[in-house]
Amino acid sequence: MAVVRLSGPGAFAALRALAPELTPRPRFAHRVRLIDPGDGTPIDDGLALTFPGPASFTGDDVVELHLHGSPAVVERLFVVLGRLGAAAAGPGAFTRRAFANGKMDLTAAEGLADLIEADSDSQRIQALAQMGGAWARRIADWQDRLLDALAWLEAAIDFTDEDDVPEDVAGRAAGPLAAIAGEMAALLADGRRGEIIRDGLRVAIVGPPNAGKSTLLNLLVGREAAIVSDIPGTTRDIVEVRLALDGYVVVLADTAGLRDTADPIEREGVRRARVRAEDADLRIFVVDTLDSESRTRVGLETECLGRPGDIVFFNKADLAPRSPATPQTDERLIEVAGSALGGDVEGLLDELRRRVGAMKGESVLITRERHRAALSVAHAAVVRAQAVSGDLAAEDVRVALQSLARIVGRFDVEAVLDRIFSAFCIGK
Ligand code: GDP
Repeated sequence: MAVVRLSGPGAFAALRALAPELTPRPRFAHRVRLIDPGDGTPIDDGLALTFPGPASFTGDDVVELHLHGSPAVVERLFVVLGRLGAAAAGPGAFTRRAFANGKMDLTAAEGLADLIEADSDSQRIQALAQMGGAWARRIADWQDRLLDALAWLEAAIDFTDEDDVPEDVAGRAAGPLAAIAGEMAALLADGRRGEIIRDGLRVAIVGPPNAGKSTLLNLLVGREAAIVSDIPGTTRDIVEVRLALDGYVVVLADTAGLRDTADPIEREGVRRARVRAEDADLRIFVVDTLDSESRTRVGLETECLGRPGDIVFFNKADLAPRSPATPQTDERLIEVAGSALGGDVEGLLDELRRRVGAMKGESVLITRERHRAALSVAHAAVVRAQAVSGDLAAEDVRVALQSLARIVGRFDVEAVLDRIFSAFCIGK
């Protein structure tokens, strides 16, 4: 089937031209024979639904036509619709209309985009929560309380000579500002859980050449994603694959073997490997357990790249089943042994599962860098507002409000004035 959706003030007129006999009942499906109004010839036999604005998805009048899905039918309809004044929608055009008509804020629109893109269960749940307004409600609550605080601060500045403004009105803003700053800081310190759920846990597989990194990646993804060979330095660029693990997305990157080399191409690969390893949420250092040089190298690498909780995978355990892993080099790191070639990576997978399991938590999370940046600005402004007084404090609260408004895509200045005049009986 093909579903063709029309949105805009001309949508109902277009349907009248296509189906002159029809008297549509809003939100009901009607069987219709669509005709070309130019010569009366039939286009298709299908269903038509109408959604009068503003109670439609876009807020405009919307018509939905369910037709047979052949390109011939759809092309014919598009030609006729073009004559009737319709233009083909671009990507996101309907959601854009919905946003412009105030049907949804930016976070809901982004949630919808994430839902359409979701390929793991955790992404789906997070996107649905955001689309349903969980994040927007949290922001609205801060905006509400910041407007109250701003009202107190501005009252103190503008109306101190008025008799009916109580003493120390500005002081009343202090408590709410401290609470809001604390809540924002807590959300910012979420370990990037929301972004990790949305974009995937970024794991970099690093280590010296020939340790078995490509073999490990291929085993984890279950297909030949990276080139495996016993010639050192085969993986010169970064191979990235997405993997679903317990309903979470893990993005694995196989990087060029870290070693000093004269080959400029390989050297570039090594440079990228380091950058990628530093950016990742988690690093898996792969060691060839039997090779003492490999162990030394990984020891050096973990010293400069390793972060607490990173994993050292002692590979090729099949060749040295009883030899104990090298003495613990760094107690911040987690060591597991196994064999990539032999398929023995349960220890490593358990560790990865533990990591993604730790992503479960409260529903409201920051999911995008855009939101994190704006919230950081708002948080810094609220913190500053507590340290200064009068005009300066009010200005900082305004900066915070604007930054929050940027997240949801709206800012209403009139609201501040409304607060001031409704909270005090100043209207003389
Ligand atoms: P990379 O350079 O680190 O990506 O290493 P590769 O994945 O290309 O592997 C280098 C060589 O080690 C290949 O010949 C692999 O077959 C071999 N290899 C990888 N993992 C294991 C393992 O667990 N046991 C054994 N015996 N050989 C392995």
